[in-house]
Amino acid sequence: MELIKHPSPNYGLRRKNTEIEFIILHYTAMSTEKSLKRLCDPVHEVSCHYVIDPSGICYQLVDDRKRAWHAGKSYWRGYHDLNSRSLGVELVNSGNEKYPEAQMKSLIRLLKHLIESYKLCPKNILGHSDIAPSRKLDPGKWFDWKKLSIGGVALFPEVSAPMECDKQIFLTQAKRAGFNPNTKFEHILKTFRNRCRPSFTGEFDGYDCALMKKFADAFDIDDSSNSQ
Ligand SMILES: [Zn+2]
Repeated sequence: MELIKHPSPNYGLRRKNTEIEFIILHYTAMSTEKSLKRLCDPVHEVSCHYVIDPSGICYQLVDDRKRAWHAGKSYWRGYHDLNSRSLGVELVNSGNEKYPEAQMKSLIRLLKHLIESYKLCPKNILGHSDIAPSRKLDPGKWFDWKKLSIGGVALFPEVSAPMECDKQIFLTQAKRAGFNPNTKFEHILKTFRNRCRPSFTGEFDGYDCALMKKFADAFDIDDSSNSQ
């Protein structure tokens, strides 16, 4: 796919014995011009591998093999240094608006290419809020995970019936999926709702529990098949 090179000096080496396993999705919360400037400014010490603007233009800032600085303090399935194990993709979006069709198409094309290149599992395409639920909201409730799932490049759990509504069950399943077990219930519920039930605003319920179980099951099923 067509990439515009826009090199950033903000990167380092991946930690020893790590490989690219995850892709972390973000929104920039600023314009394309400001995003590119900031992600290439040595003063700010932030970067990512790819930036996709609302029209679908994709910029490459950091070589895939290098460690870009986008995840910050984060956790997923026992890993703390997600920067060493991931590629970061920034989407130009304020966080309060729909992601345009052209941008989503370009993202899906990029993800397909990266999943194929590095033999990644679609379940390992995560949002910044999944790996840092107590401090990050991106890619936020306007991001269409279902569209990604239909494109075969992410998980989007769906259930037809609720389970018992129980906070402890919800948290146990969240931990099984990969969320940091030290995260507050409210933060996990918020990030998970943004991902799976973005328009739902009701009280915590049995559908939240059923969806989290379905989400966690997807990780366990794949893991057991890998070990066979
Ligand atoms: Zn982010």
